[in-house]
Amino acid sequence: MRGSLLTIGLTCLLSGMLATTEVHADSDFKVTLIGTGSPTPRPDRFGPSTLVEAGDQKFLIDAGRGASIRLWQIKVPMGKIDVLFLTHYHSDHTSGIPDLWLTGWLTTPFGQRKAPFHVIGPTGAKVLMENLEKAYALDIKIRIEDEKLPPEGVAVKVEEFDKEGVVYEKNGVRVTAFEVNHGDAIKPAVGYRIDYKGHSAVISGDTRYNENVIKYGTGADLLIHEVAMARPALMQSPAVQRIIAHHTTPKEAGMVFSKAKPKLAVYTHIVMIPELPLDDIVAETRQTYSGPLEVGEDLTSFEIGDTVTVHRFKP
Ligand SMILES: [Zn+2]
Ligand SMILES: [Zn+2]
Repeated sequence: MRGSLLTIGLTCLLSGMLATTEVHADSDFKVTLIGTGSPTPRPDRFGPSTLVEAGDQKFLIDAGRGASIRLWQIKVPMGKIDVLFLTHYHSDHTSGIPDLWLTGWLTTPFGQRKAPFHVIGPTGAKVLMENLEKAYALDIKIRIEDEKLPPEGVAVKVEEFDKEGVVYEKNGVRVTAFEVNHGDAIKPAVGYRIDYKGHSAVISGDTRYNENVIKYGTGADLLIHEVAMARPALMQSPAVQRIIAHHTTPKEAGMVFSKAKPKLAVYTHIVMIPELPLDDIVAETRQTYSGPLEVGEDLTSFEIGDTVTVHRFKP
């Protein structure tokens, strides 16, 4: 599908067949929503995870439930992820790590990692990975002895940071971590901005309404934000109040988008109490934001060039 809209958009526009003015060239900066869910074990929305492809590099932001399955649905071998960035340590964002790490080490087409598994995250990443190495020590020992897998492919390289700023820079890609506010007890918690060839994608991570997302998201091509919404009648419940207080409501996210003015605003990590029509989330957002908005689904992807092109996944 890459590049298929080039010229077609213009031709159709001229013939009056298409309502979009979209004309774009192939881009080597692409973001794919790997999982757009919350802790709810839904088959259609896997755990939070986002793939960023920039030039010859591939990054994953968080590895929630089923990230490896979604990656292989789009034929990205787990072993080809250059760096896993972590936003915070809620288990729905990390429970896919052992699978990504260990299955990615196998010599099968979906694995293929031959270099250390590189993880970058705020304080806590080292403890998490050290303990996973202990938990899976027997599997690692068995596969090295029995399958002769290369030990360097299961090694772990962890980089931790304790303040915001640039946390990765290589081959024209710069990744900047910024602090967000996921609640007083949920620290550290960060979002990421990825800059490449004069374009940028920003991922909020889990956060309440936060000025820092506006600061780092201003002028971004793509601003991917979490969202949470409960039916008003349920807001009497302290448990529901607590959940919503850790996240951003559609109206608040709309305020973030209105101030940051990204080329495209996107929802991921969609928390709904109970299941609500996605139209309700959009309608609430429209009270504070009138710009371009997409509600993400698993494997929705975005090509970032002079314009941002949305591709919905079709199996
Ligand atoms: Zn969280
Ligand atoms: Zn979360």
